[in-house]
Amino acid sequence: MVKAEGVHKSYGPAHILKGIDLEVNNGEVFCLIGPSGSGKSTFLRCINHLEKINAGRLYVDGELVGYRQKGDKLYELKDSEVAAQRRDIGMVFQRFNLFPHMTALENVMEAPVQVKGESKSVARERAAALLDRVGLGDKAGNYPTQLSGGQQQRVAIARALAMEPKLMLFDEPTSALDPELVGDVLDVMRDLAESGMTMVVVTHEMGFAREVGDSLVFMDGGVVVESGHPREVLTNPQHDRTKAFLSKVL
Ligand code: ATP
Ligand code: MG
Repeated sequence: MVKAEGVHKSYGPAHILKGIDLEVNNGEVFCLIGPSGSGKSTFLRCINHLEKINAGRLYVDGELVGYRQKGDKLYELKDSEVAAQRRDIGMVFQRFNLFPHMTALENVMEAPVQVKGESKSVARERAAALLDRVGLGDKAGNYPTQLSGGQQQRVAIARALAMEPKLMLFDEPTSALDPELVGDVLDVMRDLAESGMTMVVVTHEMGFAREVGDSLVFMDGGVVVESGHPREVLTNPQHDRTKAFLSKVL
């Protein structure tokens, strides 16, 4: 579903991603861990072309992200073409980013109506079903300020799912939450994984990575240091940098 080949990313002189190679299979939960500043969020943002890569290739579902290749040359896609690619990729951030002036239901309906041109009645019905699915069927009429952080995050997941993405990206979706709210969000993510969704998850929740993850990558300094099955990497890390990181977080 996702393939990265020698992906480099710099911000000005700061070389952040230094040749990332990895592959995320269809239906897989792919966890990305690593110290602060190692480039995890940057890499996620490259996957949906919120950031342009400086070298290498990124593919989502077999399509080159952000570019069209002709012979050896790459041509940038038009904004409308980038938007079309992004439509298939849901993203959930650390902060909830709901529209504050809209109810939970309206937040979930927004993109299908505005972007896909779905009728309001169809979108409303699907949004209600999605809110049910994330355990918030009774909160459809609440505004974000009337929801806990964990509830807002579950609305954010429902909102991303409303676009029927092929791929979901999660950037530390629980790290801004009070500890007692984390479990409900992880449960929703676990259900989503069981439904067969392909997910790339940046997380500090090693329990989730171990139990739900199919693959795990440890990144440090803009490179993949170690990768494998989560249980393998977490219980038997091979590299000193992985061991040092895990000793701090486990
Ligand atoms: P964290 O665990 O703290 O979220 P991270 O692994 O997600 O860290 P990134 O956010 O990808 O790290 O940042 C990697 C590096 O890139 C950091 O040194 C950061 O300061 C730098 N960086 C990120 N975004 C920008 C930007 N827009 N302009 C300049 N530098 C940036
Ligand atoms: Mg980050």
